[in-house]
Amino acid sequence: MKWSFQIGQFFGIPLKIHITFWLLLLFIGLVTGQQGGLRGGIQGILLVILLFGCVVLHELGHSLMAQHFGIGVRDIILLPIGGVSQMEKIPDEPQKELFISAIGPLISLSLAFFFFIVARMFELNFSLQQASLLSGNLLINLFWINLILGIFNLLPAFPMDGGRVLRALLAMRMEYLQATHIAVSIGQIFAVFFVFFGIFYNFWLALIGIFIYMGAEAEEHETILRRSLKKIPVNQAMITNYEKLSPEDHLSQAISIACHSLQMDFPVIQNSSLIGILSRDKLLSSMRDDSPETLIKEIMSTDFITISDTEPLEEAYAMINEIKGGFIPVMHGETFLGFINLEQIGKYHMLCGLGEK
Ligand SMILES: [Zn+2]
Repeated sequence: MKWSFQIGQFFGIPLKIHITFWLLLLFIGLVTGQQGGLRGGIQGILLVILLFGCVVLHELGHSLMAQHFGIGVRDIILLPIGGVSQMEKIPDEPQKELFISAIGPLISLSLAFFFFIVARMFELNFSLQQASLLSGNLLINLFWINLILGIFNLLPAFPMDGGRVLRALLAMRMEYLQATHIAVSIGQIFAVFFVFFGIFYNFWLALIGIFIYMGAEAEEHETILRRSLKKIPVNQAMITNYEKLSPEDHLSQAISIACHSLQMDFPVIQNSSLIGILSRDKLLSSMRDDSPETLIKEIMSTDFITISDTEPLEEAYAMINEIKGGFIPVMHGETFLGFINLEQIGKYHMLCGLGEK
C-alpha cells in the first residue's frame, strides 16, 4: 500500500503504518488536548497507541496462523479504521480460513478478559460511561475497546473475520462459490445497515460500512475469477503469437514493435532458447533513460521466474500479482512456449467464455 512506512518487524512480518494513521494521532492529540490540556492530549495519544498495540496482537494472530498453514504474509498495515494482514493468498480450504479468521477476535476477547481481571484487582468501575478518551481509566478503556473489537469482528459481515468464519462453515457444507455468495450477501446487508446507522450516530461506522460493501463485492469477483482459472492450464491461455528479440537487437527495435502492435512484453531468445526478458516497465524506463541504440542484452533482465505449461492459470495469476505485474514465460521443461500476463488472463477469461455463471 502506498504511503505506508515500516516501523518494525515481528516474526519476520513487517509492521507498517499508513500516513493517515499519523494524521489520526495528531487529530486525537489536538481534540483531547483542547479539552484536557497537555495531560489530556498525552493521555488521548497514549490510549490510541495502546489500542493499536492490541490491534497489532489481533493481526499477528491472523498472520502467524496463516504462516502456520504455509501461507506467506507480506505485511501488517495499520490504518485509522483498523489493521490489515496482507496475505499472499486467501486460503480456499475452509478449515484453514476458519482458523486464520477466528484467531483474531479470540485474541481481542482474551485481551478484554485480561484487562478485566487486572481492573478487578484494582477494584475499578466498569460502566461504559467510565470509558472515555479524556477522563476514563486506561485499563477500563482497553477492556471495553478489546471487548467491542472482538465482538464487532465476529459479526458475520464478510469480509470481516466473522464473515470469513461464516463462509468457511458454509463451504464445509456446500459449493465454495455458493458459500461465498451467501456470505457476501449477508456482509452487504450488514454494510448497508452500518452506513445508515453510522450516518446518524457514528462516522467511523459509516466509513467501515462502505469498506465492507466494496470489499465484499471485490472479493466475490476475485473468488469467481480464481475458481474458473483453476480449471484452465496455462498453455491453453498463453500468448503464442508474439515478436521476439535477440540480445544483439537495439532498444529501437523493441520500441518500433511496441508502437505498431499491442505487444509491450518481450522474450529475448538466443539459439532458440530463452535467455532474458524485457518487461513493459523496463521498456518504458529504458525509453526514458537509454539511447535507442542500446543493446537489448544490456537492459534485459536475466533473473526472472517461469511457469510450467501444465500449471493452472490460477497459479500464473497469483505469481503475476506476487511480482506486481509484468509477464511470465511459459516453459515445457527447457523449451520456451509462450508467455502470460494479466491482460491476457483477463482477455482469455472474457473472450473464451469460461467465466462461471
Ligand atoms: Zn481480524
